[in-house]
Amino acid sequence: MKNPVETAVVNTDEIGKRFFVVSAPSGAGKTTLCQNLLDRHPDAIRVSISCTTRKPRGEERDGVEYFFLSKSEFFERREAGDFLEWAQVHGNYYATSRSHVEDLVSRGYRVLFDVDVQGAEKIKAAYPAATLVFVIAPSRAELERRLRERKTDDPVEIERRLGNALGEMVLARIYDYIIVNDDVVEASEKLDAIVFGDAKPDREDGRRQLDRIIAEFENE
Ligand code: 5GP
Repeated sequence: MKNPVETAVVNTDEIGKRFFVVSAPSGAGKTTLCQNLLDRHPDAIRVSISCTTRKPRGEERDGVEYFFLSKSEFFERREAGDFLEWAQVHGNYYATSRSHVEDLVSRGYRVLFDVDVQGAEKIKAAYPAATLVFVIAPSRAELERRLRERKTDDPVEIERRLGNALGEMVLARIYDYIIVNDDVVEASEKLDAIVFGDAKPDREDGRRQLDRIIAEFENE
């Protein structure tokens, strides 16, 4: 296996090239694809750990699931310009720390960001060389089936998530790559090729598929 400690990375462009942002509508299978990538390259890639003011739940540990900060620490870091993006969700604050992700790159890792479309736009604005990847289910019917199968949401919530999916997919037109998660093995290989491979998947094909699925949602 390649030594993960590579040459020191200095400028925004060089840092951004090591950043891979993955977003998806709920139910598209993003978590599985990201986990497969991490399992295949345990020494070469790390997930960006977000900062939050929410209290740890259950077994959550500081520096593992999140960096747990007090509100004053959070505001201080935000004032100091450490946050690439931040948001308030259900009364708690969340943010991506610039120093954390740059430290990962300086240690030789590629960094995987699991953020929504708004967060992805901000990361791309700060690091234009970052690669944005959007994962979609092969059809509206399949996304609906997966959401039902998870049995985590009631019918009203499933409808809400399907409605959100359309808005997210429209915004995903700015993404560099679209992965249609039809077959999980194939989709995992595509993500691997984007992050680690020399032969990248066809961008235009992904875009056509995205437009096809958006049209399907709009005609629903
Ligand atoms: P939870 O508290 O359940 O772990 O996360 C609540 C919400 O916060 C999720 O919707 C998650 O996507 C969002 N979130 C987690 N980390 C970040 C972050 O770094 N930035 C932003 N903008 N949202 C985040």
